[in-house]
Amino acid sequence: MKQDQLRQLPSVDSLMQDHTLRDLAQRYGHAVIVDACRATLDATRQEILNGADAPMPALLIDNVRQRAERAVRPSLVPVINATGVIIHTNLGRAPLSDDTIAAMKTAAQGYSNLEYDLDAGERGSRHAHAESIIMRLTGAEAAVVVNNNAAAVMLILATFARGKQVIISRGQLVEIGGGFRVPEVMKQSGAALVEVGTTNRTYIADYARVISDETALLMRVHTSNFKMVGFTHEASLEELASLAHEKNLLCADDLGSGALIDTTTYGLAHEPMPQESLAAGADLVSISGDKLLGGPQAGIIIGKKNAIDALKKHPLTRALRVDKVTLAGLQATLLHYLKNEAIKKIPIWSMIAATREELDARAHKIVEQLADAKIEASIVDTESTIGGGSLPGETLPSRAVAIAVASPDDFAARLRRTNPPIVARIEENRIILDPRTVLPAEQDALLSGIIQVFKM
Ligand SMILES: *Cc1c(COP(=O)(O)O)cnc(C)c1O
Repeated sequence: MKQDQLRQLPSVDSLMQDHTLRDLAQRYGHAVIVDACRATLDATRQEILNGADAPMPALLIDNVRQRAERAVRPSLVPVINATGVIIHTNLGRAPLSDDTIAAMKTAAQGYSNLEYDLDAGERGSRHAHAESIIMRLTGAEAAVVVNNNAAAVMLILATFARGKQVIISRGQLVEIGGGFRVPEVMKQSGAALVEVGTTNRTYIADYARVISDETALLMRVHTSNFKMVGFTHEASLEELASLAHEKNLLCADDLGSGALIDTTTYGLAHEPMPQESLAAGADLVSISGDKLLGGPQAGIIIGKKNAIDALKKHPLTRALRVDKVTLAGLQATLLHYLKNEAIKKIPIWSMIAATREELDARAHKIVEQLADAKIEASIVDTESTIGGGSLPGETLPSRAVAIAVASPDDFAARLRRTNPPIVARIEENRIILDPRTVLPAEQDALLSGIIQVFKM
């Protein structure tokens, strides 16, 4: 019986004679449709073996069509972030400003003076483009840009501490997320790690005690994604830098977040700023481009000219360099700071600066529009977070749209299947949509997505 049904299934060749599939092969390419036929036939055979009846030919063809359409659809798609987590690493961290996007598009479209000195008519340096703005913004003597902050740390260690020792506090041997573990990055760079102090308390004397001829670097890592409270002590960066310099060593500070604006302005705790690290005496400071800086993914190292020059000459810099599109975007984002328009123009800072009243008004608008579609929703107090491993435990008061549904998990899953997908939070059995992280241009799509799920 089963054998009969299996034998009745058409071959790939005969499926490919179908008009619909021949048209699709014109659009998507022959190979895509043949693959979809094979996969559909395999799946159908399995279903028959599991007791299902052989499908009608039309259904089979439709399955192939759906499979082929899925195969040619990009897997990386825009998502509406209604979680209230501003720098959501899983959702791509910082959305970019209009000017940043325009600059990246222009750089991508044509040729540029990426490594060409237009005045001299000869080869120039790609490092030049972002460096001078970074120097002006932070007061650093020099700067270099690499692929991300993990690469920045790797480059610093490989350049100055390969085959030598780096001293770091046990309290700072952290995992930043996405597999960035400080001890493992250090090992990869060829530097030997010397751990000092205890998890909760490390004094400057702990560093001083282990310095030897083998030591190259004293390192501080900003424990950006967790908060240690209670009986704790860390050596200050000033102490570290002055000890390093006394012993002719370098002091490097891995900051991560890259806040160029004081977060206390918005009722948050103070996130350490790169210019403060320089003022404290650090020779090298590394920050991310796509966290609190609000730009494209990059790692920025600022510091003393001699040290930055050594980084630029290291062969790894070639492997870790950023492309023209990133450089163009980073430059555009940095210019917002220079022009004093970061809060207004950089999306993550507009989100941080949005007041409870503004968010309440946006939530009201969504609730009213849902009411027009006969969907009941209310407005609740909620808390947005910074995310991206910055400012752990710090929240911004927000007003969210709450929808009570029978099965919140199921409803959230359906929201994730709308186009564009919507990612929401669930609290107390309700769907929570925080308008803080929904971009103004996405508000209509958010609304139609919710309505669509109710109609499913
Ligand atoms: C985020 C972070 C990193 C990793 O930065 P990426 O830009 O994600 O590579 C490294 N160190 C610290 C302290 C961080 O916060």
